[in-house]
Amino acid sequence: MAGQRLGEFELIARYFAPLAADAPGAFGLRDDAAVIALPAGEELVVTTDAMLDGVHFLIKDGAARIARKLLRVNLSDLAAKGARPIGYQLAIALPEELANDEWLSAFCGGLAQDQKAFGIALYGGDTVRSPDRLMLNVTAFGAVPAGMMLRRGLAQTGDDLYVTGSIGDAALGLEVKLNHRLFSAAAMMFFDSRLHLPTPRVAFGQELRGLAHAAMDVSDGLVQDAGHIASASGLRAIIHADAVPLSLATRQAVTDDKNLLSTVLTGGDDYELLFTAPPRNAPDIAALSRRVGLAVTRIGGLEAGSGVSVLDSSGQPLDLARGGFQHFGGALE
Ligand SMILES: [Mg+2]
Repeated sequence: MAGQRLGEFELIARYFAPLAADAPGAFGLRDDAAVIALPAGEELVVTTDAMLDGVHFLIKDGAARIARKLLRVNLSDLAAKGARPIGYQLAIALPEELANDEWLSAFCGGLAQDQKAFGIALYGGDTVRSPDRLMLNVTAFGAVPAGMMLRRGLAQTGDDLYVTGSIGDAALGLEVKLNHRLFSAAAMMFFDSRLHLPTPRVAFGQELRGLAHAAMDVSDGLVQDAGHIASASGLRAIIHADAVPLSLATRQAVTDDKNLLSTVLTGGDDYELLFTAPPRNAPDIAALSRRVGLAVTRIGGLEAGSGVSVLDSSGQPLDLARGGFQHFGGALE
């Protein structure tokens, strides 16, 4: 396409229509809108996440990885709501220098790869020429049995607080990327993959329906997101720092530099599920963890009050340096 301006019609037909092939109501992206049919008794769950060059990613991260993270952060929100993913719409503000076959093929290749991995399809969107930076916006659609969407604000006094997987790996990946911090080569590769290719806990989230009282995904940082559940539920969250699950690489990093504990607990981009459940559900949650093959750790609980307390091993509140994740620019989330 060198020297030739790619028209919107050609952009859609060539790059985006193939991504809609498995979406029955998308009509090959040749209509103005799409139809999403739901089985009787199900409700549509809708969520949007926008990502801006320089704030949420850098162009040098690579088109395919940017595309996959874009889908995965949205799938993570569906997972946190207990939804079965269906598909998504995509709006792109594309700067001139990226409107070429090399970039668009890689970007759409990344979308195609994760569409297949997660069983979703493209249901439409819009493309505009950006005079400035690349901006991407995905609206993702999922389904739940009517009335069963997991909410942030339904935690109850006495609930246990749980998190899946491990916390802080992506935050350390960002430390490497932005602050040029050094860890072992293997650790840096692991942190980088956790930062750029999070794993949305889609199967686990759907199984949490009926077990959890409240749930959300960890995108702003564990402490800040626990605060979101607490404030939405009108309660106080307690986190035992020693109980927070860390990968081997992150545990080593925190052992070597105690100051990193605060980065780990308040950094973002984990895309693990944070949820509360009554103590009587603990055996079912342990069984679910074994069935799905995903670690789940009880890290604290909910009590009357407000805010979040992070306690050390002697039960004293920890003073954490950072309040939450601010991405690259610091101004936006
Ligand atoms: Mg979220």
